Amino acid sequence: MQRADASVRGTDFVPRWRYGDYLEDEVRRALAHGKARGHDVQSVPLCADALVPEASGVTVVCGDDARPVDAAVLAIGSLPPHPLAGVSAAARASGRYAVDPWLLLTNEPAPSAEVIVIGMGLTAIDVILELAARWPDTRFTALSRHGHWPEPHLPTMAIPSNDGSELVEGLLEDADLWRWMHLLRETMGLEDDWRSVFDSLRPHAALLWAQLPSAQRARFLRHAHWAWERARHRMPVPVVMAVAELERSGRLTHRRGRVRSVDVDADGATLALTLQAPGPGAPDQLHAGLVVQATGMAFDARHTTHPLLRQMVLNRHVVPDPLGLGLVATPDCRLCHPGGAWPHLFALGSLLRGTLWESTAMPEIRQQARAVVDQLLAD
Ligand SMILES: Cc1cc2nc3c(=O)[nH]c(=O)nc-3n(C[C@H](O)[C@H](O)[C@H](O)COP(=O)(O)OP(=O)(O)OC[C@H]3O[C@@H](n4cnc5c(N)ncnc54)[C@H](O)[C@@H]3O)c2cc1C
Repeated sequence: MQRADASVRGTDFVPRWRYGDYLEDEVRRALAHGKARGHDVQSVPLCADALVPEASGVTVVCGDDARPVDAAVLAIGSLPPHPLAGVSAAARASGRYAVDPWLLLTNEPAPSAEVIVIGMGLTAIDVILELAARWPDTRFTALSRHGHWPEPHLPTMAIPSNDGSELVEGLLEDADLWRWMHLLRETMGLEDDWRSVFDSLRPHAALLWAQLPSAQRARFLRHAHWAWERARHRMPVPVVMAVAELERSGRLTHRRGRVRSVDVDADGATLALTLQAPGPGAPDQLHAGLVVQATGMAFDARHTTHPLLRQMVLNRHVVPDPLGLGLVATPDCRLCHPGGAWPHLFALGSLLRGTLWESTAMPEIRQQARAVVDQLLAD
């Protein structure tokens, strides 16, 4: 990115369109490099309707066309989001409930005076800042079960003070989630900044996750997942300031609670959202012209509407992760069927969350891609 703009620093968080330009540029360079070294790399704009893995290869089906290939890599990103339980069919049909925040932003919706955003993570913040810039008179309410924004980044990048190996050794002595949390808190308390300890664990996440038995993983998802996400996906300082400014001006408030239901108000012009705050009190009712669901990426392959993945799950070519974290796979990214691993079918990214845990951000996906390419070339 610095090639195109020398003012960009390594610690900057650049706008998404700029990151998109950068990626396109990198892909162009990689393809040119590949061609110069004699590789025939083609990009084919086709939707894969079905994949049929076999012991000797994979058949890719696109409409009437079925082509046998030596190997296939499923890199389909996160899955289509589902509406939350409690959102009525009328609310979904009203056009006032946005299940996919990115689709909403590309579709240029009409302004609403009041917007409710369900979720308080980075996606919710992106949506709020983008809509607040487009609609200067709109007020926003953000909701989440815990009622916290993500933690802030430091103005300068937090460099881990060590490689985390000592902490990891301590954690591996006994794979018990409560013990891990206790040890992590204790170690963070010893450092000037907790972020450096937390970040030193990132390269070891797959190893640690692999040690956790299924019941402990489920416990982590129930009790500690939200805190992990808050600490892991942090806000850059300019974003912290933009959110604080919106709150200070009164255009943004946030509430803690669980969404019970969303339905269409009698006048048809707004939605009514029922929010149960923690504790014994009666639920509140909030009203807005637009409700945006920004509750994070979807990974659950058990009930997905993604046509290709659905086909593969129904045909038992792949096995959904029992905790709803993508597909069952080996640590070297091979997808599994009920009897073992496929030799020529791989996955990258979100689908590997159940195997590797940290598997949605570019540094991890880049490493996985490298590992898969090495295996393909070795084969
Ligand atoms: C709001 C947001 C902010 C993020 N910020 C960061 C960040 O700051 N840093 C970071 O490292 N990561 C970030 N991420 C995560 C990262 O951007 C994504 O995880 C990454 O883009 C995933 O890349 P991918 O190639 O696995 O999937 P995607 O980029 O989703 O690509 C999947 C591709 O598969 C194609 N596809 C799907 N089904 C089929 C089919 N049947 N046939 C043919 N093609 C198909 C799709 O069309 C798409 O082109 C962010 C994600 C989000 C949503």
